[in-house]
Amino acid sequence: MTDARRRVPRTDVLLSDPRLAAAERTLGRALVRKAVVDAQERVRAGALSPESAAEAAVAALPRAATTLRPVVNATGVLVHTNLGRAPLSPAAVEALRVASGTTDVEFDLTSTAARRARRGRGALAALAGAVPRAEAVHVVNNNAAALALVATALAGGREIVVSRGELVEIGDGFRLPELLESTGARLVEVGTTNRTHLADYARALGPDTGCVLKIHPSNFITTGFVASVPVAQLATLGVPLVHDIGSGLLAPHPALPAEPDAATSLADGADLVTASGDKLLGGPQAGLLLGRRDLIERLRAHPLARALRVDKLTLAALEATLIGPPPPTRDALETPTAALAARAAALVDRLTSEGVAAEVRTSEARVGGGGAPEVVLPSAAVALPAALALPLRAGHPAVVGRLHGDRLLLDLRTVPEEDDPTLLAALLAAAPAPHATAPAPHTTGTGPHATGTAP
Ligand SMILES: *Cc1c(COP(=O)(O)O)cnc(C)c1O
Repeated sequence: MTDARRRVPRTDVLLSDPRLAAAERTLGRALVRKAVVDAQERVRAGALSPESAAEAAVAALPRAATTLRPVVNATGVLVHTNLGRAPLSPAAVEALRVASGTTDVEFDLTSTAARRARRGRGALAALAGAVPRAEAVHVVNNNAAALALVATALAGGREIVVSRGELVEIGDGFRLPELLESTGARLVEVGTTNRTHLADYARALGPDTGCVLKIHPSNFITTGFVASVPVAQLATLGVPLVHDIGSGLLAPHPALPAEPDAATSLADGADLVTASGDKLLGGPQAGLLLGRRDLIERLRAHPLARALRVDKLTLAALEATLIGPPPPTRDALETPTAALAARAAALVDRLTSEGVAAEVRTSEARVGGGGAPEVVLPSAAVALPAALALPLRAGHPAVVGRLHGDRLLLDLRTVPEEDDPTLLAALLAAAPAPHATAPAPHTTGTGPHATGTAP
């Protein structure tokens, strides 16, 4: 047995290090133990001195008891499904904190007899307030759940009439027609890929019709010899008309003239609108249902509604998104390009003064998340050598940009301005010497840092 092996510090001795003991309270024993065992292994292998074991274990601690890592979205894709879609506003984050304990989500604190109250009434009132046209509203797990509930409650064992031009695949193999059919509803496809007329729908109606469904194609456009039937015309058919608008604009937005919105759709005569809460609305994952009171009541009363209901955290974040300040997704959509260019110039100044090769580039951001595929949002980016892509992804927080030839573009339209110092620190930490004396990014970061190493 070698000296090193004999000198491996004991587990209980390491665990009693004040920093590791403190981390045990925030991270739990298993994670701290793992860091300790890893450090002991390295001492045993001769890769670490016994005196450095505690220090190494502290350095190896995860920052929070989650394997999810904070990411700076510098891709220029506003609603990036693989990066968790909409970042929440500070107001929504605070609402999450409030709701994370026991809370009156379904309890009436004002009545003397402790009484049950309507679940999530604050969030529902906020949604109804944002779209006065809607007689009633309901919230479920996501838009896919909203569609499943609609199909089951309005057309289970019956028929949904839908245009062949709107049978879309949204992403990651998620095909709307397959979801709808999985509920037991039968799809009656009308029209052709490129052209569908009101008469096509009218011919398909019958005693088994549960509803007509209009789906926003979201992530593609058809051009050329095309025709589809607007909501106002479909509303004349005399059967429930459901409009899946997808990305969740509640009212028209000037930057996205072709994107449908809930208020307009209801004004045009849709009986129900379904949408996602975490696309352009900029809130938590949720499925929003808005429209006729009797239909919403049928959905709420269906047994499936319970399986699709949202938790208190979603309700809290949704309410804050609706009544609070504009969420980051909205800022990203509306920030003037000149402001982005100025931020890019300031970052490039700092980087070049630290010896990092960087320049300002114009860029083109996108809505993403299956919305407004034809819309280009002019933007500004910091261009860096492509070799930095990997080290940036490995940092804390991770930074994800877009590769363009031999350059890595960090598009600032999707980076909230208050994250610029975090981004700069991450860039300096990832770039090779000579500067390398940059502060560790986590000291200025905005991500979760429940760690024993914090002061
Ligand atoms: C994104 C999208 C969906 C799915 O919404 P989720 O909230 O991700 O379940 C459904 N329909 C349309 C038109 C969409 O764009």
